[in-house]
Amino acid sequence: MSTTDKYARLFEPVKIGPHTARNRFYQVPHCNGMGHMRPQAEAAMRRMKAEGGWAVVSNQETEIHPSSDLSPAAEGRLWDARDIPALRLMTEAVHDQGSLAAIELVHNGNHAPNLLTRAPLLAPSDMSVDSIQPKQARAMDKTDIRNFRKWHRDAAVRARDAGFDIIYVYAGHRMTLTQHFLLPEMNNRTDEYGGSLENRARLMRELLEDTHEAVGDTCAVALRFAVDEMMGADGMQAREEGQAVVEMLAEVPDLWDVNVSDWANDSATTRFQPDDGYQTPYVSFVKKLTTKPVVAVGRLTSPDMMLSMVNKGIVDFIGAARPSIADPFLPNKIAEGRIEEIRECIGCNICVSADNLGVPIRCTQNPTMGEEWRRGWHPEVIAKKGCEDDALVIGGGPAGLECAMQLAKRGYMVTLAEAGSGLGESALAGLAAWQRVADNRIYDLQQRANVSLFLESNLTAADVIELGIPNVFVATGATWRADGVGRSSPTPMDIHAGANVLTPDDIMSGTLPAKGRILVYDDDQIYLAGVLAQDLAQKGHAVTFVTPASIVSPWTEMTLEQARIQRSLIELGVDIQTGQRLTRIAADHCEAACVYSDRNTQLPSDSVLLVTERQRTTGVYDQLRADPQAGLTTLELIGDAASPGLIADAVYAGHMAARNFEADPDLIARQDYTRELIDLSS
Ligand code: SF4
Repeated sequence: MSTTDKYARLFEPVKIGPHTARNRFYQVPHCNGMGHMRPQAEAAMRRMKAEGGWAVVSNQETEIHPSSDLSPAAEGRLWDARDIPALRLMTEAVHDQGSLAAIELVHNGNHAPNLLTRAPLLAPSDMSVDSIQPKQARAMDKTDIRNFRKWHRDAAVRARDAGFDIIYVYAGHRMTLTQHFLLPEMNNRTDEYGGSLENRARLMRELLEDTHEAVGDTCAVALRFAVDEMMGADGMQAREEGQAVVEMLAEVPDLWDVNVSDWANDSATTRFQPDDGYQTPYVSFVKKLTTKPVVAVGRLTSPDMMLSMVNKGIVDFIGAARPSIADPFLPNKIAEGRIEEIRECIGCNICVSADNLGVPIRCTQNPTMGEEWRRGWHPEVIAKKGCEDDALVIGGGPAGLECAMQLAKRGYMVTLAEAGSGLGESALAGLAAWQRVADNRIYDLQQRANVSLFLESNLTAADVIELGIPNVFVATGATWRADGVGRSSPTPMDIHAGANVLTPDDIMSGTLPAKGRILVYDDDQIYLAGVLAQDLAQKGHAVTFVTPASIVSPWTEMTLEQARIQRSLIELGVDIQTGQRLTRIAADHCEAACVYSDRNTQLPSDSVLLVTERQRTTGVYDQLRADPQAGLTTLELIGDAASPGLIADAVYAGHMAARNFEADPDLIARQDYTRELIDLSS
């Protein structure tokens, strides 16, 4: 059986209310940091998903009223008719590609701090806003509930007028008023909207019925419902109230989009949830209780798993947010039997971090994500070469691999030389899936006749000159400092000659600390020190984790992992010392100063792992640059060697360099892109 025949079932049309999806691939609503602030970028990004074969393409949570104001986050907005033209850009873009467009209407209740509008916050019961803001929400009275229903109904009509085919009622992620009414821990009302499950679900039923009534048979009405809060008996559980809700409303929506709550559980990273399809055990009961189509997610990237979920009657649609970000062309690749070419999501949540930071989405695996409109990048298309010159890429990390792959796609003869052969961070606890970044690119390079790969090949400047390749891209990366310089220590630390000091590079290349207690010092405060502490503790080392920050790995709040990281270190018995700046490393102990009081503490340590800052590796680049005999047409430093950052940044830099090769240097120097400017005419 051909691959195409094998997966034919995934390409059957499926009816959703009055519409028919052309296949079973369904991009569920997900945020992208564009929304109402960058509607042209949003439209182009969603168009790309439709072009890549997703039969349904959803936007993101879309505020229906100024009392649900998520500013400064850039989500969707449909407060009134003036928002329709911006949203219509997306529906037209998606329809152009033959797909259905869905909109996720939302009132965020106490999740919306209303910082822009300053509207009073609304909730089922009196409660604090669910972020650190000096605000509380008030319990909605009957007038508030009537108003909310009217806002939702009016927004549904506007969504229809904007061209959407599917309109969501959203009850998930612990972020929506509809779900808040449902949850006993958030709803202590004594009227007909509180108490029994039937009462708590009343508003959800009313919104579904209102939406049906408002849009008639022009649009399908979907319910996004979190069946389980993953809090055990302290929250909604799939086998109890989650199931009862589906039984109660089984035939009311035209489609069930089911998942788990909260967002950190729904969008779990591979570090803490390595299994693709991890939501299946929670949602598999839904289809047994309804005749309506069901869509579910769980970082689904394996076509075999997708097929099995359809064949087993678990879902009608393969839902995806992150897999569709990492590879917008995933459905088309399956349809065309190009399974090996799928860029699998690595579950790192860098995409999520962009939304949390209020900037356009980015992706570790897909550097074109978020650049569809402003730079005109396409994930599968790149300009053909403009000259016959060859290119040499030095360094086979994420920047070098991406640069070499894209140059090869453009048609250049490419030589890639890599000094090492290790797995890097993917060798560490929980990060195995990160190897997909390299695997995808190495596979691609190995298929191409115009690529020469040299592993364990440590090129010197003289070697490069001798090779005679005129265009050289240097992606030699960066190494972790061993002198303690970092955010909190601008000058080298006082380190005793007998101290046993390690860096992340040592651990990643297989060096293990000596027996005894290891002190992991995290002045980086991103994610790596937490990973290393976990890795070492799991290998049986006694670990002390010291950081000037007030929590472990603070940046990982952006990737929804921080609480899990801190919990895992606590459970592994790691001694966590926050608010401490390391000042001295001796042979058998370290000295630390409280970042607030400067009070000194002594901490026992037999070895110290410094995770502070990186030093760029630029030796070959510097020598070539200084050599007038080098005779190179292009010499470009890329990735961590140019500016250390995330893996996503390195991949992006490699991609950018390949796209920019042979472009006008003045344009490149301006770092320009198309911007969505505010219209000052009204
Ligand atoms: Fe997946 Fe990471 Fe890309 Fe998000 S950023 S889609 S988690 S690979």
